[in-house]
Amino acid sequence: MQRYIDCHCHISATDFDDDIDDVIVQSQKAGIMALIGVAEHAGEFEKVIQLSQRFPGFVMPCLGVHPVQGRDPACPRGALLEDLDSALPLIEKYKEHIVAIGEVGLDFTPRVVNSDAGKESQRQVLIRQAEIAKHLNLPLNVHSRSAGRPTIHLLKELGVENALLHAFDGKTSVAMEGLHAGYYFSIPPSIIRSEQQKLVKQLPLENLCLETDSPALGPEKQVRNEPRNIVISAEYIAQTKGIPLEKVIEVTTHNALRLFPKLKTFIKV
Ligand SMILES: [Zn+2]
Repeated sequence: MQRYIDCHCHISATDFDDDIDDVIVQSQKAGIMALIGVAEHAGEFEKVIQLSQRFPGFVMPCLGVHPVQGRDPACPRGALLEDLDSALPLIEKYKEHIVAIGEVGLDFTPRVVNSDAGKESQRQVLIRQAEIAKHLNLPLNVHSRSAGRPTIHLLKELGVENALLHAFDGKTSVAMEGLHAGYYFSIPPSIIRSEQQKLVKQLPLENLCLETDSPALGPEKQVRNEPRNIVISAEYIAQTKGIPLEKVIEVTTHNALRLFPKLKTFIKV
């Protein structure tokens, strides 16, 4: 039975180039009914769209400019408004096909940004994309790192109503503010080795979704993560909350369909 939804996954990452068909088959065998393929920069958009056409009704495209940019992963930089120049026309072109805007957000890790100006430009990039999401009536798929409070405060200030906070690393008290704004929080398989376990305990199931962030945030560090590991997130939530796995699957899938309503029109039943 197909029943999980992976709400945040980098299926267009080069890590999957060699065995994408097998990764998709394994995901389906594990019970995933759809996965949201997020993008990080304009250069990746066409690939995400192509994957959604190659696996129709299963890979759901989501386009956006990530707060961390730079071709060389060893030298990351914060997003700049210029990064939107090539991205926005493509978002406009594919607006009918995408289920959300993302991956967007704020990343205030010191090695990414070390000045107020740098943080401000990330904010501007997020603000612009939040406006577009509102205009297109799409939810946001949000990254926040060392920036939990500024991210949730900015989303609220902007009047964002529909957002998924993926792999949230902020305080539970800040997450609660997001919860009251109606935001959802997705839990990756790395939760089993994470410091964010309190979050799972304290946030109600009604505000949780499942994600893998593949190929990152797997159960084991340095090992490629895959969508099929979503089962690990679900089992962890079930154990922590002392509820049946079936309940976790049912409610998180219901939440995902509510937050990303276009999934319903694209999923092949
Ligand atoms: Zn991600």
